[in-house]
Amino acid sequence: MADTEVDLLTIGAGGAAYPAAFRLAKAGAKVVMVDPKGVMSGNCLYEGCVPSKAVRETAALYLDQEKFQQLGLPGRICPDYGAIVAHKDAVQSRRYAQHAAELAAVPDLRLVQGVARFLDPHTVQVHGERGDERFRCRHILIASGSDVFVPTIPGAELALTSHDLYKPDPSLKSLPAHLVIIGGGYIGLETASFFAALGSQVTLLQKGGQVLQGMDPGMVDQLVPLLHPRIHLLLGVEVLSLAATADGKRVVHYQQGDKGSEISADAVVLAVGRRPVLPEGLDKLDIAADRHGIRVGPDLRTRHPHIYACGDVNGRVPLFHAAVRQSLVAAHNILGGDVPMDYADFVNVPTTIFTLPAAAAIGITEARAQAENLELVSGRYAFAEDSRAQILERMDGEIRLFFEPGSLRLVGGWVVGIDAGHLIGEIGMAIQGGLSAHDLARFADQHPMSAEGIGKAARSLF
Ligand code: ADP
Repeated sequence: MADTEVDLLTIGAGGAAYPAAFRLAKAGAKVVMVDPKGVMSGNCLYEGCVPSKAVRETAALYLDQEKFQQLGLPGRICPDYGAIVAHKDAVQSRRYAQHAAELAAVPDLRLVQGVARFLDPHTVQVHGERGDERFRCRHILIASGSDVFVPTIPGAELALTSHDLYKPDPSLKSLPAHLVIIGGGYIGLETASFFAALGSQVTLLQKGGQVLQGMDPGMVDQLVPLLHPRIHLLLGVEVLSLAATADGKRVVHYQQGDKGSEISADAVVLAVGRRPVLPEGLDKLDIAADRHGIRVGPDLRTRHPHIYACGDVNGRVPLFHAAVRQSLVAAHNILGGDVPMDYADFVNVPTTIFTLPAAAAIGITEARAQAENLELVSGRYAFAEDSRAQILERMDGEIRLFFEPGSLRLVGGWVVGIDAGHLIGEIGMAIQGGLSAHDLARFADQHPMSAEGIGKAARSLF
């Protein structure tokens, strides 16, 4: 079999792969992307960010209706989960069609449906639907992403995962009356929020003493009391096993402290983390990987200067937008002859927990500063004072900003409450631009929009 010569081969065609692939193809390089899905956008569009947010936004509409009633306005539509799934599927189809058109517009870029594995540092074998093909590659971008982590709990296969909830034509098509969620990370908590908003009773079992472990406790403490009352949190829980009953229900056996208990539900969702997906043959290349993924620094190169690892597979910031930026950094460094000329920032990346309401964080917050022995000055603005929050009657939560003492340069922040996912982007741009509390305080952000709270949080210092 003759090898096909390419300038760049990407293993995967998700957010960590295709920005680099397009960038290089547009610069005249011969580029091949390989992915068993045969479509671009990886798990984000297949079972992740996009379909879960399609469900979230419909759940938010149902919550808005509850708000209508609180405001004395009439109207109530009962959730039809089947219709919500159909809407989610339609959003996915629309975006797949858009990506197909984008791909067709770049002739030097090919997407091969198949699984890639390394034969040596420059040779990749692809096992695809049309047989095997071998590529001789000047550069390789490992962007094989991550997958749901399923622990070795007896009966774990009886649980659903985020994949079963959000993939096209998913297995869950009706609203469970009682849903148990195992895992209080962002996927577990978001899913709890959506289903509770739609009418399910939700019990969330979390191993540690706090949900959203690793996130700023100040932000988490603000968020937790605002979660929907139909969510019941059980902390310090060790799940022992799952079983099925004759009438199709699920029973979860767990230990809380010294006490063993069980809980029955119509469905169980397992959300205890994700694991990197490493392509086969990596061991031959002596590329270091641990349980978080392939180890890389901000230039995204592995120990082989022509092999890069971006996105979830390196475990640095497992978020789609971080993967896209990393992919472009890799593209720039490839264009620079595998000499670093661009570096990814792993700290100043916005993270939103899309619960209802949402929470979002960026940069250096109090918890991180404490761990690294850094001093911070903080400014705050409570949504209780905010005109837009009052108009919407959603006055819970606040904006918290963190500044370096002396210079008052903005280094981080978090937001809990209305528009958190939008506001964190504006805060992130200000951090990236090196702005100080004085700069933020001088900018006349729009009234009556929640963003005026950013300037007001800065002005709380003076
Ligand atoms: P990221 O956001 O880091 O790009 P994703 O999980 O969205 O991560 O995308 C990774 C993609 O890589 C998935 O679509 C997956 O099917 C694909 N993939 C995983 N392993 C291989 C492999 N060995 N060969 C080709 N593609 C792979």
